[in-house]
Amino acid sequence: MKYSLLAEIYEQLESTSKRLEKTFILSKLLKKTGEEDIDKIILLVQGRVLPQWDETKLGVSERLVIKAITIATGISGDRIEREWKSIGDLGRVAEKLVEKKTQATLFSRELSVEKVFNNLKSLASIEGQGSVDHKVKVIAELLSSAKPLEARYVVRTVLEDLRVGVGNGSIRDAIVWAFFEKEAKLHYDEEAKSIEPEDRAEYKRLTDSVQRAFDLKADFAEVARLVMKEGEKAFEDLELKPGRPVNVMLYQKAKNMEDAFERVGKPAAFEFKYDGFRIEIHRHGNGVTIYTRRMEDVSRQFPEVVEYAKSQIKADNYILDAEAVGFDPKTGKYLPFQSISQRIRRKYDIDKMARDFPVEVNVFDVLLLEGKDMLNVPYEERRAAIEKIVKPKPKELVLARQIVTSSLEEAQGFYEEALAAGEEGVMAKNLDSVYQPGSRVGFGVKVKPVMESLDLVVVGGEWGTGKRSGWITSLVLACRDGDIFLEIGKVGTGLKELPEEGLSFGEVTDLLKPLILNQKGREVQVKPGVILEVNFEEVQKSPSYSSGYALRFPRVIRLRDDKGLKDVSDLGLVEELFSTQRSR
Ligand code: AMP
Repeated sequence: MKYSLLAEIYEQLESTSKRLEKTFILSKLLKKTGEEDIDKIILLVQGRVLPQWDETKLGVSERLVIKAITIATGISGDRIEREWKSIGDLGRVAEKLVEKKTQATLFSRELSVEKVFNNLKSLASIEGQGSVDHKVKVIAELLSSAKPLEARYVVRTVLEDLRVGVGNGSIRDAIVWAFFEKEAKLHYDEEAKSIEPEDRAEYKRLTDSVQRAFDLKADFAEVARLVMKEGEKAFEDLELKPGRPVNVMLYQKAKNMEDAFERVGKPAAFEFKYDGFRIEIHRHGNGVTIYTRRMEDVSRQFPEVVEYAKSQIKADNYILDAEAVGFDPKTGKYLPFQSISQRIRRKYDIDKMARDFPVEVNVFDVLLLEGKDMLNVPYEERRAAIEKIVKPKPKELVLARQIVTSSLEEAQGFYEEALAAGEEGVMAKNLDSVYQPGSRVGFGVKVKPVMESLDLVVVGGEWGTGKRSGWITSLVLACRDGDIFLEIGKVGTGLKELPEEGLSFGEVTDLLKPLILNQKGREVQVKPGVILEVNFEEVQKSPSYSSGYALRFPRVIRLRDDKGLKDVSDLGLVEELFSTQRSR
């Protein structure tokens, strides 16, 4: 396929904020795509060249792109910088400058999707001496052949900031629309740019199947390729495999203990809700791999966890779900997530980090055991299975503390015990439920103290003055609505001036700096990437922010670098909090 066709699609996607219309555009594209391009197209419309489970970055900075534009157009870096300041998007800058150049010359050759994809993908593996120059060359090669519109999207993809607003939901639905038109009796309405399934039940069944395939594979490209080739047969062998991360099951929130019982039934399992970070432990023969919930491989960062798994789990082939919690090596007391979060990205002094910031692994679920898929096995039996294979050793690897009860009083007592131990609260779990990867289903609910919190992403801020100069303060926060982010307020409270006191302005500023998109006076706009857990007293309606809501007395609790953009709290949750607080 020609890349120019994809560029046109990108432009169409960018010009609408309607999800249905985006899905319509995508499904038409997929229908036109041949087998040889399907993987590449699905990845590229998501602005990526690697599947979601692979967190390798292309590692290209704006500086590097500016150099590449200079090579391709002959325009000086200074001039590009100036254009960038006024336009704010390097993609559009490249478009404009390529346009100028092509008025004078002829295109050297047409770009194909394959050529663009291969060049971009090669960026991820260029390392070592001379890698900067090599990367610049690879990008410049594309820009030299690019038409203006193509240049816009090549640059944005290189910077991993495509901004056409295609989320997982749209891709999933587009796959169904494109490949199961007959099965779900779909009718395309070209005028309205929408689609109507005649057989809704069938449509839902197919959508759920594609979703399950994605949950297990964490790669829409693979799902689409299989569906294109095999149709429904693609759903038959969705096998779990150690070494390939799976989306974890997510939980809903209960208002209180009565509500928890109502939602998960009686008797229910209650477990401590540990304040750490989620890990998946995969054992394949002699090897153990540890993944975060974002499917990042952190085995190198947690060598002791690999060892605990080898010595304390008596099985050769499994996928376990667990929470790693930090504790103070001197007092043994549990510590909040923040204290160990730095270990997740650490690349050096790993052993010292493991000594200074030890973790205890609390195993609470199993997805695969000795080759057997456990997803459809009731929770009670899954728990029994992990009790059989885990040889607990406190402060290394244990089972999540659990009671099974129908008594409100007993559950309440357990909850208080959890809070007294410094944990966040408890999880209540339905004993008969299956494990549903990737979904926020009500098979388990969390019970936490009433102060609400949301995971919000920083989209802007203000450079501080006086003793806060050099730091980005007054952070602008946003919640999620589908694939877009809507502002919901500003926060400065909760961040510390001194790093030893907790999450500091300096630390947050360092994380935000590479994400700065543009600056006007003291105000900065940043690319969404830094997620903060923020608590507050109340949600209020507010015309000042694009979400329509604002938070009363917001306070940063901690950095959630274990969460991804898709985990940012959505507008639906904000609305729910707003309406439930009224009735309290
Ligand atoms: P939240 O992040 O507030 O949505 O709460 C859900 C998270 O709590 C899960 O993703 C786990 O990381 C964590 N967690 C801690 N203890 C447990 C447990 N016993 N069972 C399930 N999840 C737990």
